[in-house]
Amino acid sequence: MRLRALGSTCLLPLLAACSSSSSPTDVSPSSPPGSATDPGGTSGDGAAGSAGPFDGGGGATDGPGGPIDTGAPAGGHSDLPVPPGPSNVPKPSGNGPDLKVLPWAGFHAATTYSFDDAQPSQIDHFADLQAAMIPMTFYITVVNDWYAGYVATWKSAQAAGHELGNHTMNHCNFDLSCNGGKALATAEAEIDQCTDYIKTTLGAPDVVTMAYPFGDLGYEPDARSRFLLARGTSAGYVLPLDTSDPFNLPGVVVAANESAAALEAEIDAAYAKAAWLVFVVHSLLPDSANWYNGLDTSAVTASIAHAKTTGAWIDTVARIGTYWLGARSVAAAKATPSGGGTTWTWTLPPRYPAGRYVRVTVGGGTLTQAGRSLAWDPHGYYEVALDAGPLAWSP
Ligand SMILES: [Zn+2]
Repeated sequence: MRLRALGSTCLLPLLAACSSSSSPTDVSPSSPPGSATDPGGTSGDGAAGSAGPFDGGGGATDGPGGPIDTGAPAGGHSDLPVPPGPSNVPKPSGNGPDLKVLPWAGFHAATTYSFDDAQPSQIDHFADLQAAMIPMTFYITVVNDWYAGYVATWKSAQAAGHELGNHTMNHCNFDLSCNGGKALATAEAEIDQCTDYIKTTLGAPDVVTMAYPFGDLGYEPDARSRFLLARGTSAGYVLPLDTSDPFNLPGVVVAANESAAALEAEIDAAYAKAAWLVFVVHSLLPDSANWYNGLDTSAVTASIAHAKTTGAWIDTVARIGTYWLGARSVAAAKATPSGGGTTWTWTLPPRYPAGRYVRVTVGGGTLTQAGRSLAWDPHGYYEVALDAGPLAWSP
């Protein structure tokens, strides 16, 4: 069956709609009576497995965050994974700049697994997820830190290269209504204290993306001034270089009891569109608390194994989203004739991280940036440094 998105049923005012359509709701319960929260992280009990390098997307030989492609000549400086395909692609020798930006770093499509709420069941099954050896995004809700293993698991996830994103302190609606819980004084405090917690208690150097609790887009203006991207729960995919709103990224919400086959069909459908698919997962079963849309962990891990066979880029919201925004910027660059060649200049979005690259091809000739000619990577692209100034082409 098709996966379904929350978008139509669970946007504001959402609590009633969510409650009536699915039980229990996508809400992060308050701490059980008598349990204190765990700001010091003393509840950690080492539930998470140790970190190892990821094997990247399908066909990749260099994992995200792993060694750069040292087989490539100078110019391949990024830590982007290497796409599947031949590694002896000849340098283009035709005419004209014909600049093309590769939408997903040279991969045909992209897939992200995101997990919401930092739920106990995700902690229970984190070792299974980690064993799949792909980078994932975990949207952290701090009120759930009463659960044993919370701090240790999410610290370990961060250290292993997974993304920890912001899902607020108490998982309330933007108007601060909660399902029995209690919000901080403002929505901004809900966001900012969560970011502080992720940095100081869980050890993340930065928090780049947010997911809106209940998909509540009331948070969107605050997200725009704090993050690079934010994920909602509207159904759909991001298509190559499309105009999707980076502050309402679509997510495919995985339904309760979803099968591996259904997840794999979704992966294939997105791949056929050369799209970026972001799964939104809640509770993981068996033998754990099913707070919302619980499914067997093996369905998730089987689908990951399938995704690897497609050759899609499998990575976090932050990493794929950062590439996507950079690629959009270069694709929209202003082209200026210069001395028989062409020069492109672009503008990056606010809070765009430093040191990032996009991959491009040209019809032939030479690409130069900051006075240095770019080397052709025989995997089939040039790597352009996004913050190294204009890109120049000459015949
Ligand atoms: Zn949530």
